[in-house]
Amino acid sequence: MIGADTSLTAEERTYLEDCVETLQTEVFTDGLGREHFQALDDNEESRADWAEYVSRMGERDFNGVAVPADHGGGGKGVVETVLTEQAVGYCGTIVHACQTSLTQHIGRTLYDHGNDHLHEQYLEPMLDGELVVSQAYTEPGSGTDLANLETTAEKAGDEWVINGEKRFIDFAAYGDFYFVPVRTSGADGDREGVSLFVVDADSAGVDLLEDQSDWHGFRGTGAAWMRFDNVHVPGANLVGEEGAAWPYITAELNLEHLTVARYCLGASQRALEVAANYTMEREVDDRPLSRLQAVNHEVADMATRLDAAYLLNTRAARVLDREGLGAGRMESAMAKWYGNDLAHEIADTCMQVVGGVATTDKYPLERLQRDVRVGRYLGGASEVMKSIVQHDAYGELADDSFGGKYVGNELEGLPWLGGDGRTAPAANADDD
Ligand SMILES: Cc1cc2nc3c(=O)[nH]c(=O)nc-3n(C[C@H](O)[C@H](O)[C@H](O)COP(=O)(O)OP(=O)(O)OC[C@H]3O[C@@H](n4cnc5c(N)ncnc54)[C@H](O)[C@@H]3O)c2cc1C
Repeated sequence: MIGADTSLTAEERTYLEDCVETLQTEVFTDGLGREHFQALDDNEESRADWAEYVSRMGERDFNGVAVPADHGGGGKGVVETVLTEQAVGYCGTIVHACQTSLTQHIGRTLYDHGNDHLHEQYLEPMLDGELVVSQAYTEPGSGTDLANLETTAEKAGDEWVINGEKRFIDFAAYGDFYFVPVRTSGADGDREGVSLFVVDADSAGVDLLEDQSDWHGFRGTGAAWMRFDNVHVPGANLVGEEGAAWPYITAELNLEHLTVARYCLGASQRALEVAANYTMEREVDDRPLSRLQAVNHEVADMATRLDAAYLLNTRAARVLDREGLGAGRMESAMAKWYGNDLAHEIADTCMQVVGGVATTDKYPLERLQRDVRVGRYLGGASEVMKSIVQHDAYGELADDSFGGKYVGNELEGLPWLGGDGRTAPAANADDD
């Protein structure tokens, strides 16, 4: 936040400050500092880098913040989860924040629906920082329309056999396990019949078909297009009930919407700080850029809307804390589209007010701008979020007394204008 954050308690504000301090002094340092950010952007990272990162985060209870401490988590709530993600986006990169976000929402799904085997073999080591996780949801033929997934799993004795392809999968090359939705029954598009599995990355039949890491931004994750070719998975690696995973996934996505928006906002706050400082020092026609109204009004606009986006995000986090991850669908979708579109707009505007040098690597702005662009897709495109919001908002706005019989026939009366439905209240008052 740029202004005071009255939406957080004093403890929560201290939590955020402590996160930032710890990340800056203990995590993003000694091999994982600024040179490492550049290495990620150049796709020169390594498996060891990611192992070191998750280990440092696990030691400091930043993985799975909303999972109970006796399962390796932070033992806190969704509000602390999004504050952690904001801090990582601000202090590190959103690529780091993405790996940590996976531990938040996959961690909660595994905790809520996983059996003892999944808790002991995957959840707890992941949260302790011993395992890197990868979320393999998107397919060549289904992205936003996840229910149309074509990857299947068939039962074979005590095992399941998975076949299909997934693409755009971050950490495909570095993950120790994949979190994979598949169809186990039903037809294309059915929400019934979707199951979730945990798949070991070294399973026979897991192939990386194409390296996809050299994309617009958000580099350094070893992203890939992958194939599951007759991959045998133990029955115990089924998460929850067979064919019943749709509500697990939608609840998980509610949390992911908040983490993705929050870490991109943290990154855009960093961009805003860089740009504001630059405009205070850079002189054009013997006066600082910050004295030009065209520039300082942009800063006012960004500061105001950034705070609004944080408030929307915290509001939704509180709904999830109070009512569970399955609640707050509209609030999460509002926070996601507004936060992610804004983060991208802020990063882009920061480049504009700084000028040409912003396009070089002298400042972090061009990387931040490329990185946050992806937030408008990750975990669900902005347009899909607006579709959720319109659906639920129409439900909230609906007023049976409005009727509708006057629409297009207003000469007959207007229900909100006065008792007789014909006269405005002001006109009634005059009559008195
Ligand atoms: C850098 C990067 C990293 C990623 N990492 C991962 C990962 O780790 N794991 C993973 O599973 N996936 C990952 N993804 C995939 C990402 O989640 C998808 O790109 C996203 O879900 C959109 O799917 P799609 O690209 O197939 O677009 P499509 O579903 O083909 O949609 C294309 C566009 O159509 C519009 N659109 C689609 N549906 C609607 C609708 N209902 N209403 C209105 N407009 C609509 C939107 O503008 C959308 O952007 C990553 C993507 C990128 C670019």
